[in-house]
Amino acid sequence: MLTYHGLIELRDKLANNEIGLELAKEKCWSDFKEGQRSWHTKDWKDRRPKFIKEKCEICSSKETLTIQHLSHPKKYSEFKREIIRTYAKDYIDTNPNIDKSEFTAHILKKYEYVPIPLCPNCMCKNPSERVRKIPKYRCADCKHEFEEAIYRSEIELISIFYQDEDAYEVRDKCFISKDKWRNKHNLSNIRYWLQRELAKNKDSETIEKKAFLLYLSDNIKYLSFEDTITACKKCASSFDLHKMELCPKCKKHYKGIQYPTCIQCLPEEKRKAAMEKIEFGKEWQDMHKRLGID
Ligand SMILES: [Zn+2]
Ligand SMILES: [Zn+2]
Ligand SMILES: [Zn+2]
Repeated sequence: MLTYHGLIELRDKLANNEIGLELAKEKCWSDFKEGQRSWHTKDWKDRRPKFIKEKCEICSSKETLTIQHLSHPKKYSEFKREIIRTYAKDYIDTNPNIDKSEFTAHILKKYEYVPIPLCPNCMCKNPSERVRKIPKYRCADCKHEFEEAIYRSEIELISIFYQDEDAYEVRDKCFISKDKWRNKHNLSNIRYWLQRELAKNKDSETIEKKAFLLYLSDNIKYLSFEDTITACKKCASSFDLHKMELCPKCKKHYKGIQYPTCIQCLPEEKRKAAMEKIEFGKEWQDMHKRLGID
């Protein structure tokens, strides 16, 4: 895995077009799998002592201090998905319509159509199918009984959709994608995913690069220790550190986001109770460990 400085250098080179995207990805991921813990690296351990404070930033204890991240870096795929979503939105705003024949060809190629049975009398959807009785169907709406339901063709549905995309006839998710996901879509879902695909392909290089730069910056931030606090072992195990922020009163200690101030800023009585709770939390966990429950 690249070191903190290595990542900064890589990000700058990529941003200034001194290195291609594929090579940058290779350099970043060559000897590390995404999600691997950065604190196993030597670089992290070497820089850690510079950032660890001399007291717990929650309870002021000096006992067994650890450095804790308040957030974790996101995956590359998450950044990519977010960026594709914005590009798709812009694309749809400027190209809201798709050529009907292009749309039809896309559906025929990529989707399986499972038509909805209709009552031949009133065209109501999903007449009830009877196992033992003859004729096979009975319409719940007009009570008409019949042996054979009628179906609309894909082409018919598409035509209705082009006249009125909110029409009653075209709302059903009766198209199943032929890929491994087997997604059930209606025509407006299909149009969205097609437009998203077109947007993605149009700017694929830019999208990937933007996502990768954000991913690198996120990892750099993580390795910079910018978003960390020093917590004693007790506090680190008692609090959800992803839900902590600096106390607005003393601007020195950290507090859970649900509380108005940190423990240190509480009136004496409450402060004592809170400290006991931390102590108790630790003992509780020790007991669980001793009993082998944890
Ligand atoms: Zn503490
Ligand atoms: Zn009917
Ligand atoms: Zn405070």
